[in-house]
Amino acid sequence: MDVTEKNRALANLRLTKSRAMSSVHYDVLIIGGGTGGIMTAAQLRRKDKSLRIAIVEPSKDHWYQPAWTLVGAGTFSMKATRRDERDQIPEGVDWLQDAATTFEPEKSTLNTRSGRSYTYGHLVVSPGIKLDIDALPGLREALETDTVCSNYVDPEKTLRVLRAFKGGTAVFTQPSTPIKCGGAPQKIAYLADEYFRKHDVRDKTKLVFATPGSVIFGVEPFRFALEDVIRKKNIIFKPFYNPVRIDPAKKEIHFKWSKPGDNQCVITEDHGLNEKVEGEGTIVMKYDMLHLAPPQSAPDFIKQSPLAHAEGPSKGWLEVDIHTLQHKRYPNIFGLGDVAALPTAKTGAAIRKQAPVVVANILQRIKDGALASEQYSGYSSCPLVTGYGKMLLAEFKYDNVRDSDPLLSRLFDTSKPLWSMWVLKKYGLPWLYWNKMLKGAM
Ligand SMILES: Cc1cc2nc3c(=O)[nH]c(=O)nc-3n(C[C@H](O)[C@H](O)[C@H](O)COP(=O)(O)OP(=O)(O)OC[C@H]3O[C@@H](n4cnc5c(N)ncnc54)[C@H](O)[C@@H]3O)c2cc1C
Repeated sequence: MDVTEKNRALANLRLTKSRAMSSVHYDVLIIGGGTGGIMTAAQLRRKDKSLRIAIVEPSKDHWYQPAWTLVGAGTFSMKATRRDERDQIPEGVDWLQDAATTFEPEKSTLNTRSGRSYTYGHLVVSPGIKLDIDALPGLREALETDTVCSNYVDPEKTLRVLRAFKGGTAVFTQPSTPIKCGGAPQKIAYLADEYFRKHDVRDKTKLVFATPGSVIFGVEPFRFALEDVIRKKNIIFKPFYNPVRIDPAKKEIHFKWSKPGDNQCVITEDHGLNEKVEGEGTIVMKYDMLHLAPPQSAPDFIKQSPLAHAEGPSKGWLEVDIHTLQHKRYPNIFGLGDVAALPTAKTGAAIRKQAPVVVANILQRIKDGALASEQYSGYSSCPLVTGYGKMLLAEFKYDNVRDSDPLLSRLFDTSKPLWSMWVLKKYGLPWLYWNKMLKGAM
């Protein structure tokens, strides 16, 4: 029996006991065995082997999602982005293959889909984000067609759509909700541009990037570098375009003009796209292929729980202090990753800086009830692939302030598309993810 099997046998034994008793207790119970959950568990185990820790995670698969951009562009294998969840669970940590459903935070109790209950000393909430396909009318049906794709849903289909495209209007867009990896919708647009050039369809193509935002990227100087990329690639940039409906039968996407305080519906330069303004300020654009990030939200069981913000712009997202990552109303609950209401980009890179804060705080609270001195500054990073073999590394923190790694910056100008950063993205980061980050070693 190997170590993982022993762990599972032990977890099963505890579960069997739990049927006889009312519930099982863990010092730290973690919801979600994705990037945030595994990193937190691994770091806690490294620091204190005596802790009884469990991860509630229904899926048998663990995905390295950052490489899906490359899969969509045909330069990374989908298979290589999946590993067994079983093999990611740190040694000594119980895997409860179940789904969290409801919370009783006053009783420090979590209930799961299988009807079990667990009590905890501390709870870590990291169940990721929900792809809210039905929040965009027509999207579900559109994704069934041969011309609409999303790296968020099925990156291998993106590649099929790119391969089948023989020219026309290629539209790339993103929703107005928060999304994971805010840069992913534009990365695939840059790669598609190069793909079309290589396959002699670019001169028959109008390539559009439409976004509800006002600029291509919120942080300078990366914004300037990306504006330059857009110009050089001859991409038609449409700001304030918020996708609100897709009509797959007519191959049309409808946008609402989203400029704050401006009720006028404006077509920002036509570029021969033959856009139409219809009804209540809706812009209708025809497409021959469409890539988009679907609208996203916190998972339903979080939205409907007492742990979520009840009101305001963060309604439905997990309510945590943005520096300590401690829940605002339940001090023995912490949250990190995509589910957390944090005013920064939702990425795995952000979690790398969030997990040590959660871990330090839990350990300190176990020791003396206080919080640790570690704080999360809002760090996130977006590896902006701008072509095959080119990437710029946007690193930033709260308030859109640049926060580039000092060592990397001494060696490279990471605000420019570089081959070295591409090598980091394609080879370095996946290796670091599986072998260091998920092992709690960085
Ligand atoms: C196309 C794409 C490109 C990206 N590019 C990058 C990039 O270049 N760089 C980067 O840093 N990040 C990137 N990301 C984002 C990154 O993958 C996520 O930010 C990160 O995985 C979030 O980690 P998480 O733990 O919050 O959620 P996840 O890693 O998604 O894990 C959540 C886990 O919770 C589980 N779960 C769900 N519901 C329940 C429940 N009820 N009970 C228990 N468990 C539950 C799920 O099964 C899942 O395993 C990209 C993502 C996509 C889709």
